[in-house]
Amino acid sequence: MSAVADVVVVGGGVIGCAIARRAAQGGLRVVVAERATPGMEASFAAAGMLSPLAEADQPGPFLDLLLRARSLYPEFAAALREETGVDVGYGDAGTLYLALREEDEAELEHRFAWQSAAGLGVERLDEAQVREMEPAASPATRWALRFPGDHQADNRALGRALWGAAARAGAEFRLGADVVALLHEGGRAAGVVLAGGERIRAGAVVLAAGSWAGRMEGLPRPVPVEPVHGQIAALESIPPLFRHVVDSPRCYLVPRSEGRILAGATVERLGFRKAVTPRGLVGLLEGALEIAPSLADAAIVETWAGLRPGTPDGFPILGPDPDIPNLHYATGHFRNGILLTPLTAELVAGVLLGHPPDASLAPFGIQRF
Ligand SMILES: Cc1cc2nc3c(=O)[nH]c(=O)nc-3n(C[C@H](O)[C@H](O)[C@H](O)COP(=O)(O)OP(=O)(O)OC[C@H]3O[C@@H](n4cnc5c(N)ncnc54)[C@H](O)[C@@H]3O)c2cc1C
Repeated sequence: MSAVADVVVVGGGVIGCAIARRAAQGGLRVVVAERATPGMEASFAAAGMLSPLAEADQPGPFLDLLLRARSLYPEFAAALREETGVDVGYGDAGTLYLALREEDEAELEHRFAWQSAAGLGVERLDEAQVREMEPAASPATRWALRFPGDHQADNRALGRALWGAAARAGAEFRLGADVVALLHEGGRAAGVVLAGGERIRAGAVVLAAGSWAGRMEGLPRPVPVEPVHGQIAALESIPPLFRHVVDSPRCYLVPRSEGRILAGATVERLGFRKAVTPRGLVGLLEGALEIAPSLADAAIVETWAGLRPGTPDGFPILGPDPDIPNLHYATGHFRNGILLTPLTAELVAGVLLGHPPDASLAPFGIQRF
C-alpha cells in the first residue's frame, strides 16, 4: 500500500511535530512517521531550559540562533495554548550560575567578560545578592552570574502540545511506523519505506529522527549524529526551593511548577543504551547538594535517562541536502533542542512552503562535515 503526501516527517519528537505543525498550517499535506509515541524520547527526557547564555561559549552564528529561538518563545507558547489548551510552562525567571569552588571562578570570569562585551545583559552578583534572591543556595557560594534572559519551559507539556497542534492543523500521524529507508526517484527523494515494506510517497522528506537520524538506508551521505546519554533525578520541592534555574559547573537544578526540582544531567557516551546508573545518580545528587544542601532529605520522586542527538561540533544539522534538495535535515539539536524547536520549525517549514532558505541556515548545513 502507498500513501501520498506533500511532506513526510520522520520522527515525532518536538522537532518533527513542530515542523509538521507549521507545514500543515501552511496548507501542506503532512504525514508524521513515528515508530513509537510522539514526544517520548529526548523530548520527554529533557530539563526544559531555554538557555542561550548558559549554553554558548562565544559569540557567533550558534549564539545568534539560540537567541533568536528564545525570542520566539513567548508567542510560540501562547499560540500553542490557544491551539490546544496546553500550558507549556513557559517561565522567564532567569538562571543563576554559581561559583562554588575556587576553580569555578575562572570559567565565570570568562563568561562574564565575553558576554558583557557582547552586550548580552549578564549580571554579576556577590554572595549576599545571591542569598537574597535564592536563600536556599549553598553558603559555599562565592559569587554568581545571573542570566536574566535564560528561560524555561515544560518539555513534556511541549511535546503533547505540539503533537496536538500538528494533528489539529491536519498532519496525519502514523504511529508504529518505523522508517527503514529513504525512497529515491530520478535523483530526488520520493518518500520513505517502513519496516514491513509499506511505502509512504511524498514530495519532500524531513529527517527529524533525533539520535537515530543516521540509521536509515538510502541516505545520500553519512548523517553524523550520535546519542549522548543524559540522566536526571527529580526531587520533591514543596514549597518551591528556587525561583531561578540554579546552575553550577557540575549540576543544574530546574524548579518545576508541579512541586519538583530536576537535578541534571550526566553527559555520557554509551551508544543507544538508556539507563539510570549508580555512578550517574551519585554524581547528580552530589552536584545537587553542593548547590542546595537543604535538599539532602528531599524525596527522589523520579529518575530517567534520555539520548541527546549529538554532532561532532555540537551544532544542529538544518536545511536541505546539497544534492537532494527535497530531503531536509532537522536533527543534531544536542543540548538545545527544546530551545531551538520554534526556530527550527520556522526555518525548515519555510523552505518546505517554498520560501528561499533563511540566511541563518547556512552555517548549519550538512555539507560542513
Ligand atoms: C537529559 C537531557 C536533558 C536535556 N535538557 C535540555 C534542556 O534543558 N534544554 C534544551 O533545549 N534541550 C535539552 N535537551 C535536548 C533536547 O531534549 C533534544 O535536543 C530534543 O528533544 C531533540 O528533539 P528531537 O525531536 O530531534 O528528538 P527526539 O525527541 O529524540 O525525537 C526523535 C523521534 O524520532 C523517532 N524515530 C527515530 N527513528 C525513527 C524511525 N526510523 N522511524 C520513525 N520514527 C523514528 C523516535 O521514536 C522519537 O520519537 C536535553 C536532552 C536530554 C537527554
